[in-house]
Amino acid sequence: MPGERPSADVVVIGAGVIGSSIALELAREGHRVVVLDRAAGAGQGSTSASSAIVRFNFSTTAGVATAWEAHFGWLDWAGHLGHDVGDLAVFRKSGLVMLDVEAAPRASWLPLFDEIGVPYEEWDSATLAERVPGIDVGRYWPPKRLDDWTPIYDRTELDGFYVAIGTSGNQFKNAPVVGQLMTELINQVENGLDHDAVPIRFRAPRTGLEINLGAFSRRRNRNSANSGTVMG
Ligand SMILES: Cc1cc2nc3c(=O)[nH]c(=O)nc-3n(C[C@H](O)[C@H](O)[C@H](O)COP(=O)(O)OP(=O)(O)OC[C@H]3O[C@@H](n4cnc5c(N)ncnc54)[C@H](O)[C@@H]3O)c2cc1C
Repeated sequence: MPGERPSADVVVIGAGVIGSSIALELAREGHRVVVLDRAAGAGQGSTSASSAIVRFNFSTTAGVATAWEAHFGWLDWAGHLGHDVGDLAVFRKSGLVMLDVEAAPRASWLPLFDEIGVPYEEWDSATLAERVPGIDVGRYWPPKRLDDWTPIYDRTELDGFYVAIGTSGNQFKNAPVVGQLMTELINQVENGLDHDAVPIRFRAPRTGLEINLGAFSRRRNRNSANSGTVMG
């Protein structure tokens, strides 16, 4: 109505894939949500650059579980959204070859695949050359190392303010779950839970996996298993 001030229970700042997912889940919970973005439209930040690759090799159990859970959301995208967007967004299952490199050796994430139940095959370089024609199986080293790439999905020191940050590198794939886990975190903290003292264990709806949200806490220790690269 002209002259009427919009009101909301929740303001989400940032209309990328993560903020949008959080807004969707909060709205589903019955909150009145407003999403603000300084850009001209939604998805014009990192989201617009994403290769949209959905992979599962992360350096923590929570990271692997979140990506595995999220891929079921991408597989059933219309079901997840509750709306068929046709060809606008389609998940194409292609398989993924991960190279066994020092920064992210397979020994660091294959046990997590076994724990979570992510299927895989192990190939030697001859098989790799045969199965992926044209690939150069030579060695190129070292990559540039950066800090901890694990995002922060958490409350802040300021009551009522929450963050989903540190996402720019590799979290597109996790968007379907991030909205859900942030909504649970927000609801539980608003209902008095001390997430800093007793981290929430989020029960993933599709896989039934329990994801310890302490892994994404702003107060967590640096993830020493982190590869120091965008692989996480
Ligand atoms: C080249 C590249 C390739 C990638 N490939 C993959 C991939 O294959 N798979 C994968 O899972 N991930 C990938 N990623 C990472 C993925 O794109 C990000 O994890 C994801 O898009 C992050 O989403 P977001 O919503 O957190 O951030 P963004 O999409 O950056 O959204 C943040 C929004 O906040 C807005 N904003 C910021 N500050 C303010 C403010 N003060 N006020 C109002 N609005 C504000 C911005 O305008 C922006 O729209 C890739 C990233 C890049 C750069």
